[in-house]
Amino acid sequence: MKICVIGTGYVGLTTGVCLAESGFDVTCIDKDVNKIRQLNEGEVPFHEPGLDSLLKKVMVGKKIKFSNKIESAIRSNDIIFIAVGTPSMEDGSADLAAVFEVAKSIKKNLNAFKILVIKSTVPVGTNKKVAAILAGRGGKSKTRFAVISNPEFLRQGKALADYKNPHRIVIGGTNQRAIDVIMKVYAGCHCPLIVTSPENAEIIKYASNSFLAMKISYINEVANICERYNADIREVAAGMGLDPRIGDRFLEAGIGFGGSCFPKDMKALVHFADLVDYDFKLLKAALAVNERQKLLPVEKLKKNLGSLRGRTIGLLGLSFKADTDDIREASSIALINCLLGEKVKVRVTDPRAEKNMKRLFPEINYFDSPYEMADGCDGLILITEWPEYSALDFKRIKPKLKKPLLIDGRNLFDPKTMKKLGFIYEGIGRN
Ligand code: NAD
Repeated sequence: MKICVIGTGYVGLTTGVCLAESGFDVTCIDKDVNKIRQLNEGEVPFHEPGLDSLLKKVMVGKKIKFSNKIESAIRSNDIIFIAVGTPSMEDGSADLAAVFEVAKSIKKNLNAFKILVIKSTVPVGTNKKVAAILAGRGGKSKTRFAVISNPEFLRQGKALADYKNPHRIVIGGTNQRAIDVIMKVYAGCHCPLIVTSPENAEIIKYASNSFLAMKISYINEVANICERYNADIREVAAGMGLDPRIGDRFLEAGIGFGGSCFPKDMKALVHFADLVDYDFKLLKAALAVNERQKLLPVEKLKKNLGSLRGRTIGLLGLSFKADTDDIREASSIALINCLLGEKVKVRVTDPRAEKNMKRLFPEINYFDSPYEMADGCDGLILITEWPEYSALDFKRIKPKLKKPLLIDGRNLFDPKTMKKLGFIYEGIGRN
C-alpha cells in the first residue's frame, strides 16, 4: 500500500517513518524546503530519541521519500495522512489554515478515490468541513473521497515507543470502505481499535489531553497547600495514586505544563465549548492555575533573596520536558520574561533546546556546562527534568554559587540530601 503523509513534524515524521518500517511505501511532504533538504540527507530536523536511526534504516530500504511537491504526491497516493500543525489563534481557537490548505490541494488533485486521514488535532466539526471542501460546490465529488478522523496520542521524547505501542487507535468515519482500509493499516498494532463517528474521535483527543493537563494543575494546587501545612506532595501523591480510580500517573507536582499540545488543546476545547454557549469553567481554571504555577520560582527567589534587581540566576533546562528540544509554551519562557522584568541577569543551559531558545531570547547568557553557568549565580532553578541533571555533582556546584539556593521546579532531587550538602533547597510542595 502507498501512503502519503503531509507535514513532517513530530507527528508526521514519526508516522511516516513507522509506516515505512511496517512495509508501506511512504511519501512525506512538507512545505518547509529546509526540512525536506535535511530529511533527504537522512537528518531529523528536531530532537526525538531513536528517530534518526529508524529514518536511516527505512531510507536504506527505499521505503520512504521526502518532497515539497504536494500535487504529484496526492495524485500518486490514495491514502493521505494530514499531520500539519494546528496552533492556537489569539482567541484560543485552533488555526486550521494548514489543514484547509492541504484539503484544497487534495480537491484539485482528486484523480481517483482518496482516503484522507486527519491526524492533526482538530476541533469537533473539522472532519465535516474538510469533507465539504473536497466535495466542492453542489457536492459533485462526494463519491471520490472519504475523510477519517484518526487523532494521534504520542508524546514527544517517547514518540516512537508511543506510536508503536498505543493504548488505543481511534478511527472516526462514516465510510465503511475507508474504515476497513485504515484498520488494515493498523493491523499490526495490538491495542483496542475504536471505530466511531468523526465527532466522537475529534472530542476524544481534546477531552483526553485536557483531562491529563487538568490532573497536573490539580496536583500542583494540592502541592501548594502541602507547602503551607508542612506536608510532602510526593508522599501525598503516592498515597493517592494507589487508588486505581485515580492512578499514579500525572501526579508529579512542578512548575506547570507546557508543550505544543496541552495548553493549545485546552484553549481550543474552551473555545469550541464557547461556540455552543458553554462556559467550560474547569478548564479555564486549570489553565489559570498553570500560568500561576510557572512563576512560582520567582516567589521562592524573592522569599530567599529579597529584591531580585541585579541578581544573577541560572536556569537548568529550557525545554518543556526532558528528551525534546521543543520549547513551545515551556515554563522557562514565562520565567525568563518575568526575571528579565525584575532586572535579573539570566543565565541558562540545556542539553538540546539552546538553539530554539536563542531565537526568542538572544540577549540572555547561554552555557554548555551547568558548572560554568553556576559560577557567580545567586541561585539556580531546575526547570527541566533532564536525566543529566540528576547526575550533577552538587559538591562541585555549591562553592561556585554566591548563595547555595536551589529551586527544584520538578522535584528531581531529594530535599534531605540537598540540605545535607548545604543547599537552601526549595522543591514544589515538599516539607
Ligand atoms: P510540527 O509543528 O512539529 O509539524 C508540523 C509540520 O507541518 C511542519 O513541518 C510544517 O512545516 C508542516 N506544514 C504546515 N503547513 C503545511 C502545509 N500546508 N503543507 C505541508 N506541510 C505543512 O507539529 P506536530 O507537533 O507534529 O503536530 C502536528 C499535529 O499533531 C498538531 O495538530 C498537533 O496538535 C498534533 N499532535 C501533536 C503531538 C505532539 O506531541 N507534538 C501529539 C499528538 C498530536
